[in-house]
Amino acid sequence: MSYTHDTIYYLKQSSPAQCEFYQAVEEVLESLEPLLEHDDQYRKHAIIERMVEPERQIMFRVPWVDDNGNVQVNKGYRIEFNSALGPYKGGLRFHPSVNASIMKFLGFEQIFKNALTGLPIGGGKGGANFDPKGRSDNEIMRFCQSYMTELYRHIGATTDVPAGDIGVGAREIGYMFGQYKRLTGRFEGVLTGKSTLWGGSLARKEATGYGVVYFAEHMMAYQNDSLKGKKCLVSGAGNVAIYAIEKLIELDAIPLTCSDSRGTIYHEQGIDLALLKEIKQVRGDSLETYLKTHKDAQYTPVNDYPENGHAVWHYEGDAAFPCATQNELTQKDAKALLKNNVKLVTEGANMPCDQAAIDTFIDAKVAFGPGKAANAGGVATSQLEMSQNASMQSWSFEQVDKRLKIIMENIFNSANGTAKEYGHEGNLILGANIAGFKRVAQAMIEQGVV
Ligand code: NDP
Repeated sequence: MSYTHDTIYYLKQSSPAQCEFYQAVEEVLESLEPLLEHDDQYRKHAIIERMVEPERQIMFRVPWVDDNGNVQVNKGYRIEFNSALGPYKGGLRFHPSVNASIMKFLGFEQIFKNALTGLPIGGGKGGANFDPKGRSDNEIMRFCQSYMTELYRHIGATTDVPAGDIGVGAREIGYMFGQYKRLTGRFEGVLTGKSTLWGGSLARKEATGYGVVYFAEHMMAYQNDSLKGKKCLVSGAGNVAIYAIEKLIELDAIPLTCSDSRGTIYHEQGIDLALLKEIKQVRGDSLETYLKTHKDAQYTPVNDYPENGHAVWHYEGDAAFPCATQNELTQKDAKALLKNNVKLVTEGANMPCDQAAIDTFIDAKVAFGPGKAANAGGVATSQLEMSQNASMQSWSFEQVDKRLKIIMENIFNSANGTAKEYGHEGNLILGANIAGFKRVAQAMIEQGVV
């Protein structure tokens, strides 16, 4: 029996019904096999057994009162997964789908992603099964305050530094920071993604989406090509998707699509970024309203694609950027993309392609950039925010963007070089997993059995 099989079997017994978590662990362990086969030290130190068990899992009740005076209760989480390389670092997600499995898959991925950045940050993730959609500002504030009233005792600028994720942007970070400060009396860099008025870093908001495109540009350059003039299919219409689209336009690529949880927009002329920002960042509206301005665009509601996959992947394009959520690109979608001659897939979201879709791309030798490498620009810039907070400085947009570019180049070179070293040239999943793993494992060995 393989290491992967034994570990998944064990996890199914010890942590039942956590499908997304098993999926993430399986993907990592399968790509570590060339390393584990030849290097006994990891087995000797029980590195895998320790790595798949979070150092600490915090779960708690989040009670709050809605605008009608009704008491609501949500479930809050913080998974402190691995601190071998530094303080736990990873976002908070507020979405009704949040559960222990989603939290653990995201936390596990974060360990390797953070290691790949080369920066001193461990891996963690948190959130709540709270749905911010349709809630008033006051309700969001009361929820955030209640969430922080429990979380504050577990986090700190040198121990655990959460950031945003789906459903958690600058507004939520502001409310949580305010409550942390009120409870502790300390103004410190305990959260990242803060407003630039009071400790946030310039370019943090743009960093994940920009970083995804910088990474894709390196993938293209490796094939002696570039993104210039390429038709790009992007999913999502949130933080990652919007700034990926912005950078694609800057590089003269043509983003043709975006999507939200209700439907997909396809615009042959290229997505109108100013309108997209207006719809999502100002009005908080559905993408369907894009048609009011651009009658020549197409809108496909989610329910029109019940069995055939997701509309966004069924258009013709040279490159695909899944930037919405986990498992949003399935094997059916992958086959449609191949039929339309896609040359590159770069993940902006965490685990947006399911395993069958990834296998389809790898078999077809499509260049594939895994999220844990390609979207690491966000967390890397969060760490730059921590550095600025600790030294009481604030750097210019250009300074941060320049560092982000260097970090993305290093991540690409590290994943690409490691894949080559292990005889799998071009397999960036294997390269990213092995490179990230080796850094964390070495730190764990040096720190003893803890
Ligand atoms: P946002 O909440 O800003 O945006 C998410 C977008 O995806 C929204 O437009 C949402 O639609 C859409 N969406 C959600 N579920 C679905 C679905 N099932 N089908 C189609 N669209 C959907 O989140 P982010 O952009 O911050 O995060 C996106 C992904 O990137 C996540 O996987 C996150 O973990 C990952 N990530 C984010 C980082 C960051 O810095 N923000 C860093 C690294 C990774 P709607 O508008 O209708 O809600």
